Amino acid sequence: MPEKQKINILWFTNNLRIRDNESIVKIQQENLPFLAVYVFDSDFYNEKQFGFRKIGKFRTQFLLETVLDLEKNLEQIGIPFVKKFGKTAEIFQEIAQHFEIETIFCQQEWTRDEILVQRKVEKVLITTTWSKSYSQLLLQPDFVYSQIETIPIHFTVFRQKIEKNFTVREEFNSEKSEKKSNFESEIKSDDIDLKLLGFENFETHPSSPFPFSGGEIEAFKRLNAYFFEHQNLNSYKETRNGMIGSDYSSKFSAWLANGSLSPVSVYHEIKKYEAEFGSNDSTYWLIFELLWREFFKYVAMQYQDKIFQITGILDKIYPYDDDENTVQQWIQGKTESDFINANMNEIRQTGFMSNRGRQNVASYFCKILNQDWRIGAAYFEEMLIDYDVHSNYGNWMYVAGVGNDPRNRTFNPEKQAEAYDNDFQYRDLWLH
Ligand SMILES: Cc1cc2nc3c(=O)[nH]c(=O)nc-3n(C[C@H](O)[C@H](O)[C@H](O)COP(=O)(O)OP(=O)(O)OC[C@H]3O[C@@H](n4cnc5c(N)ncnc54)[C@H](O)[C@@H]3O)c2cc1C
Repeated sequence: MPEKQKINILWFTNNLRIRDNESIVKIQQENLPFLAVYVFDSDFYNEKQFGFRKIGKFRTQFLLETVLDLEKNLEQIGIPFVKKFGKTAEIFQEIAQHFEIETIFCQQEWTRDEILVQRKVEKVLITTTWSKSYSQLLLQPDFVYSQIETIPIHFTVFRQKIEKNFTVREEFNSEKSEKKSNFESEIKSDDIDLKLLGFENFETHPSSPFPFSGGEIEAFKRLNAYFFEHQNLNSYKETRNGMIGSDYSSKFSAWLANGSLSPVSVYHEIKKYEAEFGSNDSTYWLIFELLWREFFKYVAMQYQDKIFQITGILDKIYPYDDDENTVQQWIQGKTESDFINANMNEIRQTGFMSNRGRQNVASYFCKILNQDWRIGAAYFEEMLIDYDVHSNYGNWMYVAGVGNDPRNRTFNPEKQAEAYDNDFQYRDLWLH
């Protein structure tokens, strides 16, 4: 039998970009040809938790757009790419029938499902080595752990220690590299669409605050419009608790979640904005929010599977009612609170909800309806266009009183509606 050609693999997961991509830079420094791969994992589309899909139609559509955009961008910098549908480990096995896979370059993961997929691949490719990069982080672990020994329960402690010697690395210049992979693969991409992944085509709701498409080109269009063209960044701190339209907040979350936008790029764009137009509370506040995102990533790294347990990272248990009807009423926007109902109608029809809304509906679910917070989190996981494992479970634990807020507070939906929707505009929009 002829010897198989040796190659490296650039495995894309939630790092779906070419700008600031450490794995691309690293793989281009190697002498071997390489192939970029993205797998729509069939297990992931089939599995359910608490009766909810792990990914719903909104995020699936966004992901499809993102992968198509990535495909075009990779082509422009001469990187061969295949997208496949199936079980990830089997796809890698298929590639290994054609090639000897020396090293896989991919993103470092530390949460249950993501680790499991990597382990399954490791099992079928026993001789392959791995090169993993922390591409979802703003701050590298070396830096963070040089400032603190362990991740504190309180965000403020984390932020203050980190901010003292704030060090964000420069962006990786993966786009600018001239080095091509020089490689024609006989492995062909699958035709993948919403239907194959189990969904019908649908139209974006006309009132959706997130009318955007997936992919890094769209991400930077949004960033440029929000920062530079419309100068929304300049007043972010005052508008960020809004609930209607696209511009009350950045809407970067969905691109950040699947890695088509790097937090490091956002940070440097904020600095560029500040150099040109001046810094103020608002420009700082967007970095402050990025630090919340970062905090939850480090919390998940420290507490591992505890973030998925009912007792959370605090090992606290509250009595709760296990009532399917109550859960359904919450989902369908049929609770006793019109403010909660409006928010639940919004997420069901658009895949998005403001931060204000998320805090309220989550608090209502755990504290007023007394339901198991993990069911609410699993529903969000299916629905949210910007679902991110660390931010979703971190925020749900926080609101449920088993996470980074030991005070166990409850939001009063009437008072919140008065403060944030005094003129009923938001409720009028989503209740009819
Ligand atoms: C119960 C609950 C569940 C949530 N689930 C998710 C989730 O799955 N994915 C997700 O990205 N965010 C989640 N959030 C956080 C927050 O609501 C969203 O990040 C934010 O609403 C996204 O809109 P934006 O990009 O316009 O935010 P902006 O206000 O413009 O903030 C900029 C960025 O900072 C980060 N950020 C802001 N607030 C938070 C926060 N509270 N926690 C972590 N990061 C934050 C996000 O990356 C966001 O894109 C959740 C919040 C709650 C209360």
